[in-house]
Amino acid sequence: MRESPALKVLLASPRGFCAGVERAVEIVEKTLEKHGKPVYVRHQIVHNAYVVEKLQKKGVVFVDELEDIPEKHQKTRPVIFSAHGVAKGITQKAKDKKMLAINATCPLVEKVHREVERFQKDGYHILLIGHKYHPEVAGTMGQLVQIAGQKPPITLVETKKDAEIFTPPDERPLAYVTQTTLSLDDTNEITEVLKKRFPSINAPKKGDICYATANRQNAVKTIAPQCDMMLVIGAKNSSNSMRLLEIAQNLSKKAELITDGDNLPKIDKKIKTIGITASASAPEILVQQTIKTLQKTHQVTLQDIPITKEAVVFKMPKELNQKR
Ligand code: SF4
Repeated sequence: MRESPALKVLLASPRGFCAGVERAVEIVEKTLEKHGKPVYVRHQIVHNAYVVEKLQKKGVVFVDELEDIPEKHQKTRPVIFSAHGVAKGITQKAKDKKMLAINATCPLVEKVHREVERFQKDGYHILLIGHKYHPEVAGTMGQLVQIAGQKPPITLVETKKDAEIFTPPDERPLAYVTQTTLSLDDTNEITEVLKKRFPSINAPKKGDICYATANRQNAVKTIAPQCDMMLVIGAKNSSNSMRLLEIAQNLSKKAELITDGDNLPKIDKKIKTIGITASASAPEILVQQTIKTLQKTHQVTLQDIPITKEAVVFKMPKELNQKR
């Protein structure tokens, strides 16, 4: 019998679930415990099919809009807003309809919401650095107070080019905020352009890219150059996953986004070292399952490469801490 080939597997650390995702999933679980099923969730609670399907089996129904909740359940069943955050108009609509709404928005996304509110109140025109169709961007833009007959004082900046050609629409001072899950490097390039063109532009006191995004990107930067192939466990609609993939593609010979160990790419003889990471919305079980799949065909040596420890925990919303 032929011996299976040796394979070194480097595990990026930290990887996988962040505190905001842990909290969002726990909010859904606790809501199910407290109220029974069905529980409605507006939008995927986090961008991961495994997490979504697991919750669906427990009685969670995912909807795109509040109107998609059947009439008979609109006032009787809970609805949860996803970790990405929602526009004020949607929370208001839930209030007006007297829905039992529970907000699973990550506190670090809420921090950006408060910054946008404050900048509008203080008379700034805001540049939001982010990706157009991401729900977090829609939620952040939706924090602005709408004034009849006036355009909201916000411009989306997606690329360095956008920053280079932006023209302020009026005399208002400028400020910028960012989506929490962007590439650190691309965002630095964009903010450098803005600061050079508009030296008095106001920036958030602390950067908006969250600790989890930064740590996962830095962990990939550490191991990717040593790898013949990097596997990023995540999803195409997850900003976090796609940024990790871009870094891995730039720094290792080959990089692939996979949903789990059942979707492994071909691993040819030349590949001696594989790096694995998981996005902030991908649970550790998918990493372990990927390792098990590799072990079926290779003699795997595992090495965890921690760059930092994370100890962030967010409080649960008060309505889930109260007794019934
Ligand atoms: S990636 Fe960051 S902002 Fe998004 S849920 Fe996790 S901790 Fe919150």
